[in-house]
Amino acid sequence: MSTLRFYAIKESSANKPIVVEEKERRSDLFGKNVFNENTMRQYLTKDAFVGVMNAIQYGKKIDRSIADQVASSMKDWALSKGVTHYTHWFQPLTGTTAEKHDAFFETVGNGMAIEKFGGSQLVQQEPDASSFPSGGIRNTFEARGYTAWDPTSPAFIYGTTLCIPTIFVAYTGEALDYKTPLLRALNAVDNAATDVCKYFDKNVKKVTSSLGWEQEYFLIDRLLAASRPDITLTGRTLLGHSSAKGQQLDDHYFGSIPSRALNFMRELENECMLLGIPVKTRHNEVAPNQFELAPIYEEANLAVDHNSLLMDVMGRVASRHNFKVLLHEKPFAGINGSGKHNNWSLSTDTGVNLLSPGKTPMSNLQFLTFFINTIKAVHENEELLRASIASASNDHRLGANEAPPAIMSVFIGEQLTKVLEELEGVTKGKLSPEEKTELKLNVVGKIPDVLLDNTDRNRTSPFAFTGNKFEFRAVGSMANCGNPMTVLNTIVAKQLIDFKKEVDLLIDKKDLKKDEAVFNVLREYIKATKAIRFEGNGYGKEWEAEAKKRGLSNNKTTPEALKAKISKKSIALFEEMNVMSKIESVSRYEIEMEAYIMHIQIEGRVLGDIARNHIVPTAVKYQNMLIENVKGLKEIFEEKFRTVAQEQISLIEEISSHIENINANVTKMTNERRKANVIEDVEKKAMAYCNNVKPFFDEIRKHCDKLELLVDDEIWPLTKYRELLFTR
Ligand code: ADP
Ligand code: MG
Repeated sequence: MSTLRFYAIKESSANKPIVVEEKERRSDLFGKNVFNENTMRQYLTKDAFVGVMNAIQYGKKIDRSIADQVASSMKDWALSKGVTHYTHWFQPLTGTTAEKHDAFFETVGNGMAIEKFGGSQLVQQEPDASSFPSGGIRNTFEARGYTAWDPTSPAFIYGTTLCIPTIFVAYTGEALDYKTPLLRALNAVDNAATDVCKYFDKNVKKVTSSLGWEQEYFLIDRLLAASRPDITLTGRTLLGHSSAKGQQLDDHYFGSIPSRALNFMRELENECMLLGIPVKTRHNEVAPNQFELAPIYEEANLAVDHNSLLMDVMGRVASRHNFKVLLHEKPFAGINGSGKHNNWSLSTDTGVNLLSPGKTPMSNLQFLTFFINTIKAVHENEELLRASIASASNDHRLGANEAPPAIMSVFIGEQLTKVLEELEGVTKGKLSPEEKTELKLNVVGKIPDVLLDNTDRNRTSPFAFTGNKFEFRAVGSMANCGNPMTVLNTIVAKQLIDFKKEVDLLIDKKDLKKDEAVFNVLREYIKATKAIRFEGNGYGKEWEAEAKKRGLSNNKTTPEALKAKISKKSIALFEEMNVMSKIESVSRYEIEMEAYIMHIQIEGRVLGDIARNHIVPTAVKYQNMLIENVKGLKEIFEEKFRTVAQEQISLIEEISSHIENINANVTKMTNERRKANVIEDVEKKAMAYCNNVKPFFDEIRKHCDKLELLVDDEIWPLTKYRELLFTR
């Protein structure tokens, strides 16, 4: 086995940067492989173009004859680019993307063949749904699910395949993917926010939710990664002593990007350009071999698709550069893990970012309305928001003193805190003309210049306001953003509906003017949401205690956190907002609990195997070498040998004790796993895995890592942290 380690080290050190040619400008490459508005103008008839645009902008249905025209034009465009196959591309609840390719090619008798692609193939397909997670919605004997075209996300070409973004639903109508509820949530927030915008501007017809994700990842030499069974099977290292040099020197962050990695990034970015993914920023992250990639933000549904696609493309481009991309939230102990900040905002079809302060007092009141309602939404639903980012892998990160804690809170900065404090003092009921003028001139009117110097960002906050957007920072690097984006947009939609009801009531019943009513409701919200606002250090132990006093949840593990998804309140919320039915909510909960169980189960098995079959035999081998040595010393030194062989003898004993501990703990862990496996109830089973199986991981690891420090490097089987992290 150690031969594999040394083979990988030798071969990987010979890996040279792969040349990437950049002949065309990025702007010329951008969207070349996308059936976007520009291409549609060229390829579609006027009717078809208008039909698709109406579907994109206003959610209108596309009728059959138009679908036929679109399909035929899409096919012509794709064939002109050498495409042979098409696929409905979707995001099942496995967390990855799915595709089943069909050729355009069809036989037409007499030994002849043509390329064919009709409206019905574009609009709907029936993949065998039985092999995707459904949480019991569909019994396998009626494995009927179908994918349906999402015209709001343009088709694209990847390789020689035309990919059509689709939703994936059960025959009975329930969503089996991330996209369907997201589209419903975006629709809900559009309706609710548009209604609220009408207080400020009657011309607003549509509100769009935007997302700009920042993707963190590790790049590890492919051969080195392949030499580690834990990385291969679980995406992270389950053991490994930390390297003498880690991230202490902070010399990687924003440092010059190593050439092999840079060339990978350049090729990845070129691929992204062709696919219309507007990536813009790249840099080194804090940990060695950790990097970040961020695009220009886009409409949320498109941004989610683009992030899912990106994660897939990254893997493919990486292997061409002899790398493996690790998207896991915590691939290495002792150094930073990876996250995916979700930058979120709302904007109108009149071109206004609702989370950006404006130029007039009125537009600032609109800003404050959306700003405060978002805070209220998070306050009311902090536990659900926490649940939206829960996964076995993200558990390693949240609250690990490097990432936002498992406690949800909102950071808004000193200046906006002051603004809210002043608004808290607004008179109840009708406002005097003087107060109105004062508010307009000195509170609401002052916001723009105030925000310009609001640069002190609190990196420890899970949900921070950063000038013109909120940044949800607790999202996992591996996660599909669809889940958190569905929850965030749904809770804000619900909040805006409640807000509008309250304001309207004050206008109708208390005879308040519109702005007076808005001020009155906002004042109450500011008072009611103090608990969720936190400007201090989110990593500190004091915050845990303080948050508890404030009544905020602190669900540290996935099984605990996920429960919020099926609380009465959450189920009712999703039903009311038409985002998910009760069956859908419950099924998702079950799928995620099961995924949690599987992950811990697999990690437990892999760890047991490595510890017993790789580490222990190596330790025994080394111990035998020591025993031989001691025997030799005894021969030479006779009675004096105890002094001479003292160190070796204590090493032999130490090794024995670690071996004993490893074996005992692996046995106990296996027994706990067996017990957990026979539990029927998914919640109890997940709890058993979390509380009874997982704790052995650290215990086993501790002894293996100690052995790594004791055993001769020459025979150590697993590629070490320093080799994984510092190979460039
Ligand atoms: P950082 O948070 O690392 O300082 P930036 O603030 O520049 O980086 O932006 C991070 C991400 O936020 C980018 O993807 C960017 O496109 C996105 N972003 C910027 N403005 C908005 C906005 N109004 N709505 C949503 N995302 C935005
Ligand atoms: Mg950021």
